[in-house]
Amino acid sequence: MVEPMIDVVVSARPNFMKVAPVLRSLRTHRVETRLIHTGQHFDAAMSEVFFRDLELPPPDLNLGCGNGSHAEQTAAILVAVERALIEQRPDLLVVAGDVTGTLAASLAAAKLGIPIAHIEAGLRSRNWAMPEEINRVLTDRLSQLLLTPSRDAEANLRAEGIDPARVTFVGNVMIDSLHRALARPTDILDRLAVASGSYALVTLHRPANVDARETLQATISVIESIAARLPVFFSIHPRTRARLESLDLSARLDRVAGLTSLPPLGYDDFVTLMRHARLVATDSGGIQEETTALGIPCLTLRDETERPITVIEGTNRVVGLSDVTVGQAVDESLAGRSKTGRVPEGWDGHAGERIAQALLSFVRNREIQRQRRFD
Ligand code: UDP
Repeated sequence: MVEPMIDVVVSARPNFMKVAPVLRSLRTHRVETRLIHTGQHFDAAMSEVFFRDLELPPPDLNLGCGNGSHAEQTAAILVAVERALIEQRPDLLVVAGDVTGTLAASLAAAKLGIPIAHIEAGLRSRNWAMPEEINRVLTDRLSQLLLTPSRDAEANLRAEGIDPARVTFVGNVMIDSLHRALARPTDILDRLAVASGSYALVTLHRPANVDARETLQATISVIESIAARLPVFFSIHPRTRARLESLDLSARLDRVAGLTSLPPLGYDDFVTLMRHARLVATDSGGIQEETTALGIPCLTLRDETERPITVIEGTNRVVGLSDVTVGQAVDESLAGRSKTGRVPEGWDGHAGERIAQALLSFVRNREIQRQRRFD
């Protein structure tokens, strides 16, 4: 039998940690892979550093679709991925998560009749104002192999009428990367001159929290409320930095006492800082999961989450964007009344291998079916 060819697409920061363990596993099997970087995140801080920290091989193809509105990026990626797929015609296209490139690449493959495997399928916030929700739902509709990180994701797909034969529960592959990073702690606490367990770590970048003046002001009030209680390190996403500047709110943020602003951090630095935090406040999807895996209290500064398992089983609390509510939650946490939790099923550091197995059996079964048709 000819060895299969699998194309793997990465686009933006949260993709790299999901794809690295899968590529590593695929390459231990005899399978030809091609890593395609759409270029949605392309700079050193949001992309390059992750190739180093996660030991990702350099992309075989860089499509350079970095700038523009949602429509412009989607269109550019659609055209460039289609071209790449026609050139190689892989047996399978693998996409991950819920970023613009995830959907755009899937759409290109679907129209060419190339099957798609979606890593992190089935998550639902049920908030259609989130671009990520649109990307998730549509990518799942287009995919033949839906690889779910948690049992609730399977239930969501079932409820949408998706054939269970398309769904495979594999667990959470981000946790594979997390385990690897934990084994490689950096000296970031020394560099920041801070003691383990003495600070809060904050990240924010969702459009709903940073795009409009009112919400960005509310976000800064929330940060003030946390910083009034313990030192805060805020890793500022480029989108948030741009909005702070265009809405003229940088100076207000700079005046917050007890706050240290940081640029986006590399993965090993960020994991080290997260692991030693007293608590984390975020609107990131991945960080809700990582804090649950680490047993660190997490306050999610949103009204809902597509990752309810982190609330039901883990350390996450969805608290919204009110400085009062967040202040109370921080007080409870500092008084030792944080949520405790357990690590969900399949968040064991071996999801990458399970995903590689699922991808291989999918392409091999298709090959067998194809040969049967010719016999
Ligand atoms: N992360 C990082 N450096 C940072 C902030 C986050 O390495 O300064 C990592 C974090 O540990 C997680 C991922 O980036 O693995 C989450 O990405 P992001 O919040 O951009 O996306 P989301 O998870 O919300 O889709």
